[in-house]
Amino acid sequence: MIVMKFGGSSVANGECIRRAAEIVQARLERKPVLVLSAMGDTTDHILAAAEKALHDGPHTVEPSLELITDIHLRALRDLKLAKSVPEHIRPLLAELASLLAGISLIRELTGKTRDFLVSFGERLSVRVFEMYLQSIGMNARACDAWEAGLLSDADFTQAELLDECYQSVPAAITPLVDAGVLPVVTGFIAKCRDGSITTLGRGGSDLTATFIAAACRAEEVQIWKDVDGIMTYDPRIIKTALPVSAISYEEAAELAFFGAQVLHPQAMLPCGKTGTPVIIKNSYKPSAAGTKISGHADGAPVRALASRSDVTLIDIVSVRMLGASGFLGEVFAAFARHKISVDMVATSEVSVSITLSSDNDLSLIKKELSRIANIEVKTKKAIVTIVCNIEKSSQILERAFGVCAKLGVQVQMISQGASKVNISFIVNDTQSEDVVRALHKEFFPPPQAH
Ligand code: ASP
Ligand code: MG
Repeated sequence: MIVMKFGGSSVANGECIRRAAEIVQARLERKPVLVLSAMGDTTDHILAAAEKALHDGPHTVEPSLELITDIHLRALRDLKLAKSVPEHIRPLLAELASLLAGISLIRELTGKTRDFLVSFGERLSVRVFEMYLQSIGMNARACDAWEAGLLSDADFTQAELLDECYQSVPAAITPLVDAGVLPVVTGFIAKCRDGSITTLGRGGSDLTATFIAAACRAEEVQIWKDVDGIMTYDPRIIKTALPVSAISYEEAAELAFFGAQVLHPQAMLPCGKTGTPVIIKNSYKPSAAGTKISGHADGAPVRALASRSDVTLIDIVSVRMLGASGFLGEVFAAFARHKISVDMVATSEVSVSITLSSDNDLSLIKKELSRIANIEVKTKKAIVTIVCNIEKSSQILERAFGVCAKLGVQVQMISQGASKVNISFIVNDTQSEDVVRALHKEFFPPPQAH
């Protein structure tokens, strides 16, 4: 079997659904299991509806619901499946409406409620897609995550799938596939022990797909998106960016973590463990090769670039002459206590520089650390990441710093990722785009025109 995941933009409307269904139909002999995201921007719409209900009150519920209903109803009409909301979909929309009304009255929106709310996006999309697949003669069956054995912890909005899913998922899915059923599973969501609905974090459908593939020992997992694969950089910014044909699990994970918005950062873990290949494909251009993520990568020393803005850099310099272990121990214990997650770290015996995303509140930790260190916080920084073959790091660093020197850009911190596939450094936010453009030209020179 294979797992095929279609992201929100690949099932955004009737036309997209028809295209996605064609792609599935052409691969039926490989016994696909489908994983879907919510249609288009439904998740964002639901979250916006919740905020409105919370802050502006009950009168916002009806217009919000209309917008969400319309996305699904329009697709059903375009696909000639129904003129009004079908019987089995109506209860979901009614429940969503009651929930929004409840929020507008109680004026409270917890992570648990948020997860319950956004779950309707995926639950609606699998039902719409199921109807279309059935209408063209496929034996499709919509499955909510819990029917597919997906159980998680109760860490709402960021839940993790439980280890026992490695048994429960194949136990639920394999019999369906063996019976010739085409399961259409909700991505992104799960249930925890007490039966509450959870989500795996934004973009979590990738993880649902790779988990199912790994647990069921699928031949491969295909992630269908609206881009040609993992690109050397975001093609909206660098027009000459190229698809990367092959990349390793670690490299793909680093790229996702450092800002390439192609995959959920944790999505590589399950398939990395089992060695299941992950193929990124463009649903608008199914014949394009895409990117193959597996244990092996191709020969290019630099695979891709990524960047992330809105980064804060903190320099922490010991005021006592503590030995490195005592000092670093105290610093990191403080970050752990305040549940602030750190991205990059560079240390010497008496100082440590740390980067984190700018939305962390640093007031408490600053106060606490000021007892042992001088602290300087620098905002509006960016991380530029080069995902590369670290065995060639000296040459790559030389070229990268040559590029920065030519631009007159001061590099403020540098670190080599623990997974040994990336070099990351900090520059001012205002300079990062220039740096990335120049690096891209250096490592991926556009073909010379003749
Ligand atoms: N629909 C969810 C989101 O927009 C999950 C996903 O698309 O993977 O984040
Ligand atoms: Mg989405």
